[in-house]
Amino acid sequence: MSYYPRLRHLLLSLTVCSLALTSGVFQPEQAFADTVPTKTTQKTPPSANNAANPATTGTHPAAQTPQTTNVTKQNRLKSIPVLMYHSINTNDTNNSLIVTPEQFDKNVTDLLKNGYTPITATELDLAWESGHPLPSKPILITFDDGYEDNFTNAFPILQKHKVKATIFIITGSVGRRNYLTWDQIRTMHQSGLIDIESHSVTHRDITRLSAKEFSAELTESKKALETELKKTITIFSYPYGQQKRAYMPILKQAGYKMAFSTQTGLASFTQGVYYVKRIKAMPEQSFVAILQSATPTKLTKAPAPPAKTPVVTTNKAGKAPVQTPPKPTGQPAKPTTRPPASPAQAPPADIQVSAAPEQTR
Ligand SMILES: [Zn+2]
Repeated sequence: MSYYPRLRHLLLSLTVCSLALTSGVFQPEQAFADTVPTKTTQKTPPSANNAANPATTGTHPAAQTPQTTNVTKQNRLKSIPVLMYHSINTNDTNNSLIVTPEQFDKNVTDLLKNGYTPITATELDLAWESGHPLPSKPILITFDDGYEDNFTNAFPILQKHKVKATIFIITGSVGRRNYLTWDQIRTMHQSGLIDIESHSVTHRDITRLSAKEFSAELTESKKALETELKKTITIFSYPYGQQKRAYMPILKQAGYKMAFSTQTGLASFTQGVYYVKRIKAMPEQSFVAILQSATPTKLTKAPAPPAKTPVVTTNKAGKAPVQTPPKPTGQPAKPTTRPPASPAQAPPADIQVSAAPEQTR
């Protein structure tokens, strides 16, 4: 399928982190993603390098407690699931980015039944940086892009269960059709349940941006959110999950302390704070299946894992045992290596089909 320029722009700005995911592919950054931890595991306190940024200087607890405590060390050893959602509605059941309110409610119900306690991205950052206490089974619920249904459909469910979540906002899309308004964002922020953070201004693929352009995406989105919400923005979510290794220092220079990717896996400090993994929540997928899709081998202690051990029975003659293969888990493990693909090659079955404000511009 070919795209004329306007549609191509629409795709780039609205397929929303999805392309690497829907295609099951991670982009060229995959090649260096695993090398990032060695460069970022020694996270420095923000006071030194962010001194020129009044939005972070002196406002973050870590600025007063730069020492690495035992609690901090313990926090950094944990692997934590970070669920990634986009749109919560019933508009398009064939869109992998859209989870129905009913399914989302069930996911939240089940994660609570399984003993997990949702925390915000800011709390995760503080836990890794300055020993902010973590619950025994922490988990993050995140939303990318800032669709209006995050307020109309997801927020009531989060309120009902009294659980926290994090929403990454494309500030240039605020107020457009199908996107959150500033009033809605402010209402969720003031509820104390929702951590609002940045997802850039224009949602462009940063691998196609100059360093100056990427810096502008970071600083301008941060400024807009801080002006509207009167809070410090320190966490970023990469559009399309795309990262460029050479640009990581720009995040720090702009006052960001953590960034989330779309690479599948449990989040851990050793991945590097500027490349935190998440788990995409697919439509019709149970909570346990979501976790299994990320790390089937690490979740054998989950309360309700699918059966993995072959069932051993005997044949009619009562002689040699017969092994019955385990039943499918419903969410096959993703391969560790994936073929490369570019966003332009991914199928255009994404959010923009039903929720693209650009279609009106
Ligand atoms: Zn996005």
